Amino acid sequence: MTCDLCGFVENADNSIIETKHWIVLLASDQAYLGRCYITLKRHCGDLTKIKKEEWSEFFEVIKKLEKAITKAFNPDLFNLTCLMNLAYQNNPPNPHIHWHLRPRYKNKIKFNGLTFVDPEFGHHYAREHERSMEVDQSIQNEIISRIKAI
Ligand SMILES: [Zn+2]
Repeated sequence: MTCDLCGFVENADNSIIETKHWIVLLASDQAYLGRCYITLKRHCGDLTKIKKEEWSEFFEVIKKLEKAITKAFNPDLFNLTCLMNLAYQNNPPNPHIHWHLRPRYKNKIKFNGLTFVDPEFGHHYAREHERSMEVDQSIQNEIISRIKAI
């Protein structure tokens, strides 16, 4: 069974953080400035099957990542979710563990001439309200370097 995320991990070339077990990549949708994915490098679709060493490394990745994004953009909050709903739209499902990290901002923030607003701050980003803001590769690279420069 093929897995898009395995290919995504294999072909990734501009990670924000990469450790033995995890890779952090920026999302092209930056409606939440600094939004990224934290993906387990091996194929595994069940959170209860994550090894102790992987969990402990995940914790370190999150600490490092939140610190770096805070220094770069100073969000007020981070939403961290592991959903994997998309994989269950297929039969049979073939999930691959990944987390969505959405920095949340009480006030609007400007970066590289763009303004980012979070009108649902303090609330869940319900799917029907979720805004999308695709940014081009050059802006993505600027965001990545800002986060990595810390
Ligand atoms: Zn996979």
